[in-house]
Amino acid sequence: MQQGKLPFTGLEKIRFNVPPFTGKEYEYVRQAVENKQICGDGAFTKRVSRWFEEKTGTAKCLMTTSCTHATELAALLCGIEPGDEVIMPSFTFVSTANAFVLRGAVPVFVDIRPDTMNIDEKLIEAAVTEKTKAIVPVHYAGVACEMDTILEIAKRHNLFVVEDAAQGVMASYKGKALGSIGDFGCYSFHETKNYSMGEGGALLIRDPKYVEKAEIFREKGTDRSKYYRGQVDKYRWQDFGSSYLPSELNVAYLYAQLELAEEINAWRLARWQEYYGLLTPLAKAGKIELPIVPEGCVHNAHMFYIKTADEQECAALKEFLEEYDVVAVTHYVPLHSAPAGMRYGRFFGEDVYTTKESERLLRLPMYYGLTAEDAAFVAEKIREFYGA
Ligand SMILES: *Cc1c(COP(=O)(O)O)cnc(C)c1O
Repeated sequence: MQQGKLPFTGLEKIRFNVPPFTGKEYEYVRQAVENKQICGDGAFTKRVSRWFEEKTGTAKCLMTTSCTHATELAALLCGIEPGDEVIMPSFTFVSTANAFVLRGAVPVFVDIRPDTMNIDEKLIEAAVTEKTKAIVPVHYAGVACEMDTILEIAKRHNLFVVEDAAQGVMASYKGKALGSIGDFGCYSFHETKNYSMGEGGALLIRDPKYVEKAEIFREKGTDRSKYYRGQVDKYRWQDFGSSYLPSELNVAYLYAQLELAEEINAWRLARWQEYYGLLTPLAKAGKIELPIVPEGCVHNAHMFYIKTADEQECAALKEFLEEYDVVAVTHYVPLHSAPAGMRYGRFFGEDVYTTKESERLLRLPMYYGLTAEDAAFVAEKIREFYGA
C-alpha cells in the first residue's frame, strides 16, 4: 500500500477524533434562530435537560458552558472554602482539580488502579482528614469507579461526592447512570466527547434540595430562573454567582445527537469490540494490555486504549502509526507532577501506578463515523509493529 494514502476513507489520515455530527444539527440550529431565542434556557435547553433527567433519574440537569463550569458549580454547591481538601486521582484532566483550587481548596491526589486507571477506592479512606470536604471520582474512558465503596466512605465521613463523568454519558454502574450516583455529576459535551455541542456540559443534581442554589449560582447570582417560570415578579441579586448557561445555538446542535444517542453509542461500541478482538492475540502473547471493564460497569466506548511496555515503546508505536497516517495519542501528564499540581496539591501515599501506567497508555482513533475498515487497519499496523 502506498504510504500516506488510505484506501478506506475520504480522509487523508485516520484521525484520533472527529466531532460527532448526524446531519440534523443544521435544522435544529436553524429552529433555534427562528424561535428568536438564542440566549440560554430556551426550548432546546428545556428539552435536553429533560432528556438527561429522564435518562439518569436525577432531580435536575442544568446545562452549562462546559464540564469545567459544571464542576465549578458543584464546588460552589459543596460550599468549598480555602484550606478544604478534596480527594481525587492525579491521572485526570486539569478541570477536575481547578474547579476546587479556584475556591481555595487543596487537591489531595490518590493513586489509581492499574486495571481501570480510576482512583483506587481502597486508598481513599486513609487520605481523609478533618479538612476533607469531597471526593471526586473520575470515570476514565466511561468505565465506572467503584462507587459503592466511595459512597460508603463519603457517608461515614460526611463528604460530598462529585462525579467527573465528563467521559461517562450513556455509561452506567450497577444499572445507574454515571453522574447520577454521587451528590453531583458533571458531563462534558466538548467536541472530543461522545456527544457534542462544540463546548458545553451539564450538572446533574441528585437531591432536589440543591436545585434552587444551583440555579442562582448559574444565573449570575440571581433568581432569574424562578422569574422565567413566573414564580417571582422580579428577579433580584440573591448570592454570588457567575454565568454558566450555554446559548440555545449550542444546545440545539447537541439535541440532534441525543435523538441518535443509541445509534452513536452502538457505533462506538462496535469499533471498540473490533479493536478488542483484533488485538487480543497481541495481548495473549504478552506484548500489550487491553482495557479491563469490571463487572457491573457498562461503558460507552468513549475511548479505546492499549498499554505498551513503557514510555519508550509507547512513543515508538505512536511514531510508527503516524508513518501510516494513523493518529494515536497519549493522555494526561499526572497533575501532581505538573507545575500547578505541585503548587496547589499534594499526593497522598505512594505513586505506584499513576505515573507508570499513564506513560505507557496509548489511545487509538475512536469516533462516531470511524469505519470498521479503518479500525482494522489500525489494529493491523499495531500487530505489524510488534512483528505479529
Ligand atoms: C473533557 C474532560 C473535562 C473537561 O470538559 P470541558 O467540557 O472541556 O470543560 C473534565 N474532566 C474530564 C475527565 C474530561 O475528560
